[in-house]
Amino acid sequence: MSSSVSGAVNGGISYWYADDGLPDVREPLAGDASADVVIVGGGYTGLWTAYYLKKAVPFLRITVLEQKFCGYGASGRNGGWLYNGIAGRDRYAKRHGHDAAVRLQRAMNDTVDEVIRAVAEEGFDAGIHKGGVLEVARTPAQWARLKAFHEHEVSYGEKDRVLYGARETAERIRVADAVGSTWTPHGARVHPVRLVKGLAAAVTALGVTIHELTPVTEIRPKHAVTPYGTVRAPYVLRCTEGFTAALKGQRRTWLPMNSSMIATEPLTEEQWEAVGWAGLETLGDMAHAYMYAQRTADGRIALGGRGVPYRFGSRTDNDGPSGRGPTTTGGRNPRPSRPCGKSSSSSSRRWPECGSSTPGRVCWACRATGARR
Ligand SMILES: Cc1cc2nc3c(=O)[nH]c(=O)nc-3n(C[C@H](O)[C@H](O)[C@H](O)COP(=O)(O)OP(=O)(O)OC[C@H]3O[C@@H](n4cnc5c(N)ncnc54)[C@H](O)[C@@H]3O)c2cc1C
Repeated sequence: MSSSVSGAVNGGISYWYADDGLPDVREPLAGDASADVVIVGGGYTGLWTAYYLKKAVPFLRITVLEQKFCGYGASGRNGGWLYNGIAGRDRYAKRHGHDAAVRLQRAMNDTVDEVIRAVAEEGFDAGIHKGGVLEVARTPAQWARLKAFHEHEVSYGEKDRVLYGARETAERIRVADAVGSTWTPHGARVHPVRLVKGLAAAVTALGVTIHELTPVTEIRPKHAVTPYGTVRAPYVLRCTEGFTAALKGQRRTWLPMNSSMIATEPLTEEQWEAVGWAGLETLGDMAHAYMYAQRTADGRIALGGRGVPYRFGSRTDNDGPSGRGPTTTGGRNPRPSRPCGKSSSSSSRRWPECGSSTPGRVCWACRATGARR
């Protein structure tokens, strides 16, 4: 996700990190270890799993191994739509019946409130505002699709979903040429980075061990192998999402897809008055090119969509176009990056660990840890 915190800036890990700051990185794994459960990957999947496992069985010894820092992946870069959408729901209904799909949908509706509840219980600020999800149509074709979409959602039990005409839509938000919209209350805006940072802190406070800067190179039954040692556990959970293809033997398990975002400068009061959007709904539309947007806590519009092409060979784009990261995995495992404690202002000097020799660049690991030279 590109950022425009001060002027047009491209790249970086995400606008959300530019806004909230990179985290202090936790200690890497220091040698062989054991646990009851090892979780590979410190994104939402890994961290929420650790959270609820530990809440359910407090004596479990849980270790999270994270290649960079918690929230480095999509969990620290996304559109901040906390909502009730289910990918593949129709397929699920075909297989398990309509009633089961309705129950699943209700569970997803409840999940939005559960995240809000858990964040409140843990006492951190994730920039959450539950304004629902508004999806707008701007052409007759979009309007036809929107009405069909609306009916379809209602058929899965969303009785509280509302269809708006042009005038009611404009009362909520002034989108040029809008002819109508559909709104569900089951959605909230979040600040993705604040959510993942708060979650990592909550999980740590519960007694889960998190090792960062610790790439797992291979997952074998009951083993998570890293350059610094192997963690053995009866259960090893792979929560590596788009990075999965970089794990040994997993190149074709998961196809990494891309989605890109931009954030505007903060809008002025006058601009917000012209736009409306006082309800802070997350916003989508019915165009064929996928679009999602949110009004951020600091008064910007952050919007994105799918459309960056698939990268040949399951390669992933790590740190945005400015290349502020140590390496591009390119389908391989990333080099381990430990804080090196040196500046690269001399072009001849190389980082002892991450290998970067770019003049004037701060070593990525030092940037992440905040270490000063
Ligand atoms: C631009 C964008 C916008 C999005 N918008 C939304 C949205 O608005 N709403 C929504 O619901 N979803 C959205 N998504 C999707 C959502 O962000 C992801 O589905 C979600 O964050 C996935 O979480 P995860 O924990 O499974 O994966 P990730 O967040 O990618 O976490 C995986 C973690 O595993 C670590 N890892 C990977 N390989 C290894 C390894 N070998 N060893 C150790 N650690 C490893 C990574 O560093 C990373 O931290 C968006 C995604 C993108 C990219």
